[in-house]
Amino acid sequence: MKVEENLQTIRKNIQQACKNAGRRENDVNIIAVTKYVSINRAKEAIDAGISCLGENRMEGFLAKHEAIGKEAEWHFIGSLQSRKVKEVIEDVDVIHSLDRRSLAKEIHKRATKPVSCFVQANVSGESSKHGVAKDEVVSFIEQMKDYPNIRVEGLMTMAPYTNDHEYLRSIFRTLRQLRDEVQQHHWAHAPCQELSMGMSNDYQIAVEEGATYIRIGSELVGPYEEQTS
Ligand SMILES: *Cc1c(COP(=O)(O)O)cnc(C)c1O
Repeated sequence: MKVEENLQTIRKNIQQACKNAGRRENDVNIIAVTKYVSINRAKEAIDAGISCLGENRMEGFLAKHEAIGKEAEWHFIGSLQSRKVKEVIEDVDVIHSLDRRSLAKEIHKRATKPVSCFVQANVSGESSKHGVAKDEVVSFIEQMKDYPNIRVEGLMTMAPYTNDHEYLRSIFRTLRQLRDEVQQHHWAHAPCQELSMGMSNDYQIAVEEGATYIRIGSELVGPYEEQTS
């Protein structure tokens, strides 16, 4: 399938989810997650009207960034090792995986200006998932004031892979409630207006629950390369 056709379907679904929830479609940003696909397929996404690209590994991030550059806004969505921060810091627009103080310290040290970050929360409590435990999210964000180059724009989570819609909904709702709680503090370093949640399997529910960034790979650019010859 062409990215353009996939995007049309996704936009329709977003439209419906926004209608269900009384939200505005313009408040939902689509990040095309290009980790499984080629540079050309990522360019196809840009041509189809996507402006945000997401990668979860440093190598893929750097390769795509080098080829595409300023035509896209660059989202780093995978877990980030502190020693790799210096490799991506100049090229990244948003980091979705801030989940520990040592990483914040390194970002602060390497950045030359404030960096937009999302704090990744482990809402489901699965031990395999990265992220700050949900009970520690608010105090973790408070601590981020020690690092002036960190700007906490929002929260991110990955829901478990399941078709239990009510469970997924409860995960997304919890992230939204945490976001609202952070906002009540009016911390200058943490406006925390955004919610990065929802992937191919669950983005409609995430949008109904308030997602402002959804991260879509398989359903948008495909998990595998298309044969185009
Ligand atoms: C791979 C990935 C996605 C996209 O997954 P799909 O199910 O292919 O849409 C979203 N977020 C993160 C953090 C990922 O690693």
